[in-house]
Amino acid sequence: MSSIPPIPTGEFITHSAEETFELAYRIGEAITQPTVFLLQGDLGAGKTVFAKGIGAGLEIDPAEVNSPTFTLVNYHDGRMRLYHLDLYRIEGGAGELYELGLDEMLTAPAAVVLIEWAERLGSFQIPGAYQVLLSDLGGDERRIEISAVSQP
Ligand code: ADP
Ligand code: MG
Repeated sequence: MSSIPPIPTGEFITHSAEETFELAYRIGEAITQPTVFLLQGDLGAGKTVFAKGIGAGLEIDPAEVNSPTFTLVNYHDGRMRLYHLDLYRIEGGAGELYELGLDEMLTAPAAVVLIEWAERLGSFQIPGAYQVLLSDLGGDERRIEISAVSQP
């Protein structure tokens, strides 16, 4: 039996992009097994900053982790592979997700999958994923709520 990865759940308030990066970095650093993050939040909420932090924690250069808005998916190899998806422009629903290879990413042996605009997954269910809700509280303040979506 594999143990549950040490992802902290609960609500965090950050006061700068650096703090959001740091929070995600500490989470990324602790990941040792396949993990899925479903990020939701408006444009500018900090989803990509969070993705960069996770990447850094996986020993990936955060400068290379950018929103794959047009390609929908990027991957980066660090200590584990990070698949970074941005579904903002997805049009074809679940069919397009299968075409992108999301199923394979989710079953890859040593991969972290992070999905921006996860609300666009529609009915595509990912058991065992962590939901990360980011909200802009004004200025540089952001609320980041992390929860386990459902049991694997
Ligand atoms: P998204 O991917 O959600 O559209 P980005 O991560 O690309 O958003 O952008 C977030 C923007 O907000 C960046 O310009 C970042 O510098 C700024 N920002 C300000 N305060 C914060 C914070 N506390 N956490 C994250 N980003 C912040
Ligand atoms: Mg983004």
